[in-house]
Amino acid sequence: MRLSRRGVIAGMAALAAAPALAQGTPKVVVIGGGFGGATAARFLKRGPVDVTLIEAEPSYTACPFSNAVIAGLRPLDQQRFGYDGIRRDGITLIHTRATAVDAQARRVTLADGTALQYDRLVLAPGIELRLDALPGYDAAAAETLPHAWKAGAQTTLLRRQLEAMEDGGTVLMSVPANPYRCPPGPYERASLIAHYLKAKKPRSKLIVLDAKDAFSKQRLFQQAWARLYPAHLEWIGLSSGGKVTEVDAATRTLVTDFGRHTGAVVNVIPPQRAGAIAQSAGVADRSGWCPIDPVSFESRAQPNIHVIGDAAIAGAMPKSAFAANAQAKACAEALADLLAGRAPRQPRLINTCYSLVAPDYGISIAGVYRPANGLLADIEGAGGVSPLDAPPENRALEATYAEDWFKTITDEVFA
Ligand SMILES: Cc1cc2nc3c(=O)[nH]c(=O)nc-3n(C[C@H](O)[C@H](O)[C@H](O)COP(=O)(O)OP(=O)(O)OC[C@H]3O[C@@H](n4cnc5c(N)ncnc54)[C@H](O)[C@@H]3O)c2cc1C
Repeated sequence: MRLSRRGVIAGMAALAAAPALAQGTPKVVVIGGGFGGATAARFLKRGPVDVTLIEAEPSYTACPFSNAVIAGLRPLDQQRFGYDGIRRDGITLIHTRATAVDAQARRVTLADGTALQYDRLVLAPGIELRLDALPGYDAAAAETLPHAWKAGAQTTLLRRQLEAMEDGGTVLMSVPANPYRCPPGPYERASLIAHYLKAKKPRSKLIVLDAKDAFSKQRLFQQAWARLYPAHLEWIGLSSGGKVTEVDAATRTLVTDFGRHTGAVVNVIPPQRAGAIAQSAGVADRSGWCPIDPVSFESRAQPNIHVIGDAAIAGAMPKSAFAANAQAKACAEALADLLAGRAPRQPRLINTCYSLVAPDYGISIAGVYRPANGLLADIEGAGGVSPLDAPPENRALEATYAEDWFKTITDEVFA
């Protein structure tokens, strides 16, 4: 095999970056057992690696399809997954919170004070909701005006509030500017809430206040809204006064530059940043998210720490479960190379995001990505969105694809 000069230099750089491994099997610690971290742990364990997964919660509650729970189309139980499959793989699972990372000493500290050494660390902590970014919206306000942007108790709270609301009540939703977890998520939620109102509270209406004018799958969503929910969903973008600047939880009021809106039920999706441990590890930049090398997912700020999933700045890739899972596999492969002293290969990654506009009406967006200019960039011409003029049978098929995707990914990650 003939090696290019660039390949040789990349190989030498990887060798130079490779840690002085402890004697015996290399140790990789993964923080966060969600779509990103749990996938990474399982794929790393396929090689001769000692893998420890640290996850704060005893079970995982998945966000994809949680909008269907809010609309009463699905029980929350179907969103819950255990970690028995991961234990069976031989991964050491510790259910506690990681509280600190010392990148120089390559050490993670756990809530009980235990310290763990690693050769490489994978950080997949997901997001932290910025409860200091929107005046008036703090942890106490979230107890009455739920965000439901982390699935679980907040999902149930929003569902119960919708059920308890009188027919004729107004529902408000505040959507943040980019970047945030799941770009099409708010619009899927708006659609399914409107579906619920149309069926059960026909005199009610949802008003979506958005901090931007353009959003994922916009034409498809707006086409469907015009057909399905003309009386039940109103979207107000940035230039029409959609940006919420302040929240008054006591009166359930959202303040914008153009006026005030009061609702019977108010769903505030606040701005976000990488999970708190990323700040403590020193891998997040001033944006709150974590810059990474797009080939190895290694942090740009700290050596031997790799960041995947929502916490990472992944260029054109959106913050989705599909993306977190794809990044985890690419990262595990890069780590196998690095731990063996080889240069990691250039990955190709795929993302697909399905959204339900109604129970039997699905739409999707897909993309393919590769490293370019230090980021993960779209491969032009690959991917695309559902056609605007598709017949109802196609929308119904896409709704079943969405279900199948969820079953496939949750089996791969947790079963
Ligand atoms: C309403 C909604 C709908 C969505 N729909 C879709 C969809 O249809 N398709 C799709 O692909 N994506 C969807 N998403 C996005 C998807 O949920 C996220 O992108 C995905 O969960 C990101 O995975 P992650 O591993 O980065 O983070 P997470 O899944 O959030 O996992 C992070 C894990 O880390 C743990 N953790 C954090 N900090 C620590 C610590 N210090 N110590 C120990 N453990 C820690 C947390 O407990 C958590 O289990 C949706 C999101 C929302 C909100």
